[in-house]
Parts: sequence; C-alpha cells; structure tokens
Amino acid sequence: MNAGPKIKRAKQTGEIATGQCLCGAVVIEIEIPAFWAWHDHSRETQIAHGAASATYIGCWRSKVRIVNGAEAINTFTSANGQSTRSFCKTCGTPLTYARSRDAKMINLPRALFAGRTGREPRYHIGLEQMPEWAYRQEPVKPLKGYPGVMVVKTPRAKAVEMNPFA
Ligand SMILES: [Zn+2]
Repeated sequence: MNAGPKIKRAKQTGEIATGQCLCGAVVIEIEIPAFWAWHDHSRETQIAHGAASATYIGCWRSKVRIVNGAEAINTFTSANGQSTRSFCKTCGTPLTYARSRDAKMINLPRALFAGRTGREPRYHIGLEQMPEWAYRQEPVKPLKGYPGVMVVKTPRAKAVEMNPFA
C-alpha cells in the first residue's frame, strides 16, 4: 500500500475535528491529527473544485466518520477507475477524494473544517499543472471605487520578462 510520502506518524490524541458541507446536510468527523495535508494542483482537482487548486487532508479511512447526511452524498468515479470523488447532492460541496491505489486512505478538502486538523499542508502535488491564472501571492492594492476588490499592484506586462527570441 502506498500511503503517500514517508511522514512521521503523529501520536493519536483521540481529539475530533468536525467538518461540513456548505448547506450543512453532510457532517464529517475525523480523529486528529490527520495523516498528512497537501495542496493539489492537478487538472482533475482544478475542475472538480472549480478552483486553481485544492488543499486536502489525508486520513486513514478508519479515522473518518460521516456523522450526518450520508444519504445526501453522491459519488463520481473517474473513467480510468483510479479515483472516486464524492459531493453533497444539495450544495455540490466536494467531500471526499479516494484513490484506488490508496485503499486505506481517504482525502478530505481542508476547507470543510473550520478548526484545526493537526496537520499543516506542507506538500504539493501536480505543481507543474498550476494554471497561469492561479493567484501567486502577488502584492495587491485596493481598487478605487470598488470596496472589497483588490487589484495586483504590478502590471502584468512589467512582471513578465520579455523574451527577445520568442
Ligand atoms: Zn451540502
């Protein structure tokens, strides 16, 4: 079994973290700390989340419980059968991401959990698939006349070096 990179096993505390989908129908509990956490930039995850990347916590299946709303969960298995994702039928929130090669592990979007999960996301998968439109922490400033809207400080043309050989 491949359980991801070799990560020092953290002591189980018996502590519980609770997560939920956007509409609240599905409630998930995990025993913390989670096994590991990472940022997933792969194209599949981009589409499944409608985002440039998603941050996951990987857990042993035995440490994850659906405590409410199991009937509200639908699943999608990729055409190659290598991954199964689940989501809330009502609000569409992505809930789990399982890979057939890691049968004992299940991955949950970090965002489901408002509180701590015992692991910092220090790893990246599919970094080379990060889209050019992903936010890369460029400095921003308020956009005049649009409260709450920030705009990147440096014009993009200046930020990108011109290639004379292109
Ligand atoms: Zn929901």
